[in-house]
Amino acid sequence: MVVKAYGTPAGDAPLAAIEITRRTVGAHDVQIEILYCGICHSDLHQARGEWPGTLYPCVPGHEIVGRVASVGGHVTSHAPGDLVGVGCIVDSCQHCADCNDGLENYCDGMIGTYNAPTADAPGHTLGGYSQQIVVHERYVLKITHPQDQLAAVAPLLCAGITTWSPLRHWNVGPGSKVGVVGIGGLGHMGVKLAHALGAHVVAFTTSDSKRADALALGADQVVVSRNPDEMAAHAGSLDFILNTVAAPHDLDAFLTLLKRDGTMTLVGAPASPHPSPNVFNLIMRRRGLAGSMIGGIPETQEMLDFCAQHGIVADIEMIRADDIEPAYARMLKGDVKYRFVMDIATM
Ligand code: NAP
Ligand code: ZN
Repeated sequence: MVVKAYGTPAGDAPLAAIEITRRTVGAHDVQIEILYCGICHSDLHQARGEWPGTLYPCVPGHEIVGRVASVGGHVTSHAPGDLVGVGCIVDSCQHCADCNDGLENYCDGMIGTYNAPTADAPGHTLGGYSQQIVVHERYVLKITHPQDQLAAVAPLLCAGITTWSPLRHWNVGPGSKVGVVGIGGLGHMGVKLAHALGAHVVAFTTSDSKRADALALGADQVVVSRNPDEMAAHAGSLDFILNTVAAPHDLDAFLTLLKRDGTMTLVGAPASPHPSPNVFNLIMRRRGLAGSMIGGIPETQEMLDFCAQHGIVADIEMIRADDIEPAYARMLKGDVKYRFVMDIATM
């Protein structure tokens, strides 16, 4: 099936309208009419060739929501007409320890929603900036939010799960004092989710203009990280820090804010490395520095259900498909409040 998409033939070429082919629906496949797709900073890193190994043509997009158009003969968990989501994973080996634990995100055979090898043309996966996608039922999530919130649900499929998974893994909840660094697409979801989990949340931003917004998102306190006095006020006090910053920066400035046994988990994936932190900042307080990548399928469903129960969605700005380049330019300036979502009907 040939469908319209937005993609790029090279890292230095702008995204533009193209046509792509989706595979015939197999016995375990779900064919989805995509309605909205969130715009993740990873899309920009990948499309621009900032991370190694981008395969072109590149069609980004892994915050997909839509309606089931048809299902294969063996599909039991989804039916035509259902509202569904697809995040960053469209396949995995389905039998390793990670897959058996529902952590398909750590499977060596994990197939990303774009830029991963596949038997389908053109030989690598093509993402959600497109009208349709065909995905194995295991990787299709159920959406129970009201239909009028659908566009604002899209960012939960990456920004939501990427912040939810570490918050849960490091047991954030009532009594925790949690820092969220970088108030962009991931960070604003981190603030909302940590707040809903009952933590005391401190938002760290480089943008003075985001102070009021961060409080409205659910932060108890806001720190402009460029101000040393504001940073010093939190020294040695945080149980956990979720660092979402998309650019290399001084990690020591944040590690020193952790309590003894506190952990800072990096989810931001800048194109070039951070300066190495001072190991004494780790040793002296038995602090941890960790990383985390998106989340598994069961925990993604858990996060979606939690968000539906608590009325949580992303704060979004809707764009037309042909506004993707200006949207990327604004993302690079940290000027997103707080996630762009593409209306696929404009394609
Ligand atoms: P985003 O919306 O652009 O937000 C990043 C935020 O980082 C900015 O809004 C800004 O917040 C802060 N920042 C500070 N200095 C910056 C600088 N020099 N350049 C850019 N941002 C700066 O991006 P996102 O979609 O949340 O993604 C954040 C990072 O996470 C990206 O690297 C992305 O690839 C990565 N990611 C990782 C995973 C994973 O599985 N680990 C999943 C998705 C995305 P303030 O204005 O508040 O300072
Ligand atoms: Zn993403």
